[in-house]
Amino acid sequence: MPEVIFPLDSSKRFEEQLKVGHNRWHPEIPPVASVRPGDAFRVDCREWFDGAIVNDDSADDILNAPLDTVHKLSGPFRIEGAQPGDLLIVDILDVGPIPQEDSGPLAGQGWGYTGIFAKRNGGGFLTDQFPDAYKAIWDFTGQVASSRHIPEVSFEGLIHPGLMGTAPSAALLATWNTREAALIATDPDRVPPLALPPQPVDAVLGSLPASEYDRVAAEAARTAPPRENGGNQDIKNLSKGTRIFYPVFVDGANLSLGDLHFSQGDGEITFCGAIEMGGFIDLHVDLIKGGMDTYGVTENAIFMPGRVDPRFSEWLAFSGTSVTLDGEQRYLDSHLSYQRACLHAIDYLTKFGYSPEQAYLLLGAAPIEGRLSGVVDIPNACATVYLPTSIFDFDVRPSASGPHQVTQGVPAPHAA
Ligand code: ZN
Repeated sequence: MPEVIFPLDSSKRFEEQLKVGHNRWHPEIPPVASVRPGDAFRVDCREWFDGAIVNDDSADDILNAPLDTVHKLSGPFRIEGAQPGDLLIVDILDVGPIPQEDSGPLAGQGWGYTGIFAKRNGGGFLTDQFPDAYKAIWDFTGQVASSRHIPEVSFEGLIHPGLMGTAPSAALLATWNTREAALIATDPDRVPPLALPPQPVDAVLGSLPASEYDRVAAEAARTAPPRENGGNQDIKNLSKGTRIFYPVFVDGANLSLGDLHFSQGDGEITFCGAIEMGGFIDLHVDLIKGGMDTYGVTENAIFMPGRVDPRFSEWLAFSGTSVTLDGEQRYLDSHLSYQRACLHAIDYLTKFGYSPEQAYLLLGAAPIEGRLSGVVDIPNACATVYLPTSIFDFDVRPSASGPHQVTQGVPAPHAA
């Protein structure tokens, strides 16, 4: 096992650990550890809410989830010799949940959860159709996840970090704040908001000196969106064996990561759509000096996905176009067409006895594939969503004999 450079004690909260991570992006957050190019090391990760979501049959914790506290990130890690303009090579050697026997009282260990966030607290991809909070708890048996809240389905995890990235430079951070503030200003009262401005309340900034805290907390960017530095990209294929190339914007690169997912469907559509968990990740790092210019990767990471995937040989796919539910024609709106494809899949699954919310939770958590199938055929974009048929315990394909009916156990917890 590689040296653990960021250990987490399962019995203590994130801010009480020996090494304290962070939950905002800012170039002045001090590194918690230093590594050299060529080093391999292990990092423990807390699930993104640090235990606020618990393993029970209520969704009150999702309804009232403390969004200002996320994401709880491990890092930053300084890579010796890294300079702005370099590409940082990150290999994911291994990634997994914290073993059951190490489970402390905090959530996200040996099990995981998927949430539908309420429209007034986060929202999600289909928040107009699903404005209330729901939750599903998933239990891990080896590589397999199953849920008492979603019957007759199970699947192998494609474990990955939802969030990983390098620190922004001061100039890049200012660019983010300016452009996101301009977007918010177009509709400042929107629910859910168009973007999240810096929020000093609940900011965790590692070992930053107290004298700098208020200033940095007022400038530091939230971790929700993916940006030029990578960040919360929620790419389900960043699994074991993946090699990622991150642009470097500050001396030392200051790599941070977290938000581990046991599994996720493309789009992470319920917002907390993956199976969120705490765990560990083993990384190897190296540098390509001057690589940003050499390869034209001046922003946004490039990557080579790992080759250890669940094996699916058959899919049932649903398509959607850029026409609203009210029948209004939109112009090549791929976002809308993916929503319509997902809603078609949800409608289909309800014929088997799932509630719409169970179907929505399943599409967020299971390894479904989403594709932009057509983006040029005016006026309709076409998006498709592919469900692996083997994740169901029954035959989910259409046939003359009609849909099997699932046996409901514990209803998916709901709070409004
Ligand atoms: Zn996540």
